[in-house]
Amino acid sequence: MNYRRFSYTPWRIFAALPAALLALIFASAAGAQQCTVKPGSIPQGQTVRLRCEVPAATARLNARTVRLFKQGSGDWQGLMPVAVADTPGTYPIEFLAADGSTLASVNLTIRRTMFPSQNVVLAPQIEALHSTAEEMQTLTTFRDSVSDVKYWEVPLVPPLPGCVISPFGVKRLHNGKPTGEFHAGIDQRASDGTPIRAVAAGAVKIVQPFNVLGGTVGIDHGQGLETMYLHMSKLNVELGAHINEGDVIGYVGATGRANGPHLHWVIYVNGVPQNPQQWVTLKSCATAKKKS
Ligand SMILES: [Zn+2]
Repeated sequence: MNYRRFSYTPWRIFAALPAALLALIFASAAGAQQCTVKPGSIPQGQTVRLRCEVPAATARLNARTVRLFKQGSGDWQGLMPVAVADTPGTYPIEFLAADGSTLASVNLTIRRTMFPSQNVVLAPQIEALHSTAEEMQTLTTFRDSVSDVKYWEVPLVPPLPGCVISPFGVKRLHNGKPTGEFHAGIDQRASDGTPIRAVAAGAVKIVQPFNVLGGTVGIDHGQGLETMYLHMSKLNVELGAHINEGDVIGYVGATGRANGPHLHWVIYVNGVPQNPQQWVTLKSCATAKKKS
């Protein structure tokens, strides 16, 4: 039997395809090279870096759209947050030009994260604290704003050296009762009055006491990155001030809904709370205890 009858050279296969289909294959391959998503597989609650060599204005993942910004390096970059509540699976991230046309589509895989539960014991008068409508509006306005100038660099600087008492994403119970809420930031161990430093440069957008959050500072670092620091005993910045990385913005306390002095801080990426431990290197108190 002559097997040569069945052999095809690659060009013969291409020749068999219609020209229009070929053009589509090459166009999508070029698009994939022009825009990248890193990493291509990510756990719930973490951020994906978006980068394009062509002018991409926005990127879309399901119902979430974020902006990209031209960088000094000549490319366009943005941050896509994956929320704790996002459904695991593989989805396309579509990169769009300013006119809404699609430049590229790159797949992202969202992996399931197992978030443990944690009970927090609170005194009745502390548990009874609630946010006012005005406070909620202030927080929403902060989360929804995305400013054009990037003041941050990676890695961010930890706000204080204390180990992590409570990680991001744990399901919270208050006095044994499920709250339906998850821990949207991390808690670091620190004694009352420890200085708290800005993790990156930026503009101060919130400086005020809140019922639940206590003494709070919110910083806009630009291009979709924001941080917020809670339960402070003393605030050390002015609203609207531009601060540098490492500036002391306040001091550790136990104001608001807190059962003792510690620092709770939050990273928002385009309005979505993200795991700060993707952005800074910090030891867990459990690990630190075992090692000592
Ligand atoms: Zn906390």
